Amino acid sequence: MARPTRAHVDLAAIRHNYRHARAQAPGSRALAVVKADAYGHGAIAVARALAPVADAFAVACIEEALELREAGITNPIVLLEGVFEPTELDIAQRARLTPVAHNRDQVDWLCRMRPAEPVAVWLKMDTGMHRLGLDPAAFAAAHAQLTACPHVGEIVLMTHLACADEPGHPANRAQLDCFATHAGGLPGRRSIANSAALLGCREAHAEWLRPGIMLYGATPFGEAHPSAAALRPTMCLESALISVRALAPGEAIGYGGRFVCTEPTRVGVVAAGYADGYPRHACDGTPAAVNGRPTRIIGRVSMDMLTVDLTAQPDARPGDPVQLWGDLVPANAVAAASDTIAYQLFTGLSRRVPITYTDDA
Ligand SMILES: *Cc1c(COP(=O)(O)O)cnc(C)c1O
Repeated sequence: MARPTRAHVDLAAIRHNYRHARAQAPGSRALAVVKADAYGHGAIAVARALAPVADAFAVACIEEALELREAGITNPIVLLEGVFEPTELDIAQRARLTPVAHNRDQVDWLCRMRPAEPVAVWLKMDTGMHRLGLDPAAFAAAHAQLTACPHVGEIVLMTHLACADEPGHPANRAQLDCFATHAGGLPGRRSIANSAALLGCREAHAEWLRPGIMLYGATPFGEAHPSAAALRPTMCLESALISVRALAPGEAIGYGGRFVCTEPTRVGVVAAGYADGYPRHACDGTPAAVNGRPTRIIGRVSMDMLTVDLTAQPDARPGDPVQLWGDLVPANAVAAASDTIAYQLFTGLSRRVPITYTDDA
């Protein structure tokens, strides 16, 4: 029997989540963010499933974009970090990619190129996240410089919110005000909202949404947020029991003996560990499901294995199915119990885990 650890990806659920994202702002278009191999789901498969409905895609870099072009994806693709050196602009132009310009150098490179056809640009302002983006005070000048270039076509104005996952955070107001002040008089469409702002801040919707994590069925807010209800889980990480044993009170499980049984305990060993992308920091009590029934991780996660409590399932046997996250076990709950976020669970899925796809369309 092959190692039972695998991920199932539901492509129809990703399409559903994209439509749900766009339905939150009917007047807006939405970039489907498929960077980092579509958050670990497989960029080519996801992009092919979304291509008929997606207004455009977004990736981090040109390598990710070219992978999609080679797979036959013809939708517009935005490079969220722009190009890393000026020579990439020619490649980007030939592949009809839309770069972000987030610093002075990238603006200058764009102005110096001589493309055969006009290039579209997303010009990014740093309104307070202090990661990428032009200084607000320098934004209008950069916009004017690009506008003066005959080969620069549409310029979309963008910024990114640092605290959108906390809708009441004062930084959101400050960033929106900063953007309104320094981009206010300029022509062009605008883009502000990631998943959190799309779901939690109507004012940030603008003409172009940029949903990422919500396409993959996880909420950016943590477990309890109502936005989770309408999203369908898209990735299911599954494995199986490979050993079941009975332990007595006082006996400890796994490395470091972190979990010590306080009563007679049936323990299941599952063929999945941190080398598969399961978080090593999962605490005792992290949810999982065996035979479709809820249980919990007990003991430290190993490289290739982890252990679950089967005391409530006296009939569980080696070979029985285990779900580590998916429709029965929210990735957000596993992430919360592991001091991380669903983004890291999905993108951390290891190459050792084969992905199988379903698409009910
Ligand atoms: C990754 C990314 C997004 C998507 O963010 P989510 O939180 O996954 O929705 C949006 N905008 C930019 C600039 C990004 O880098």
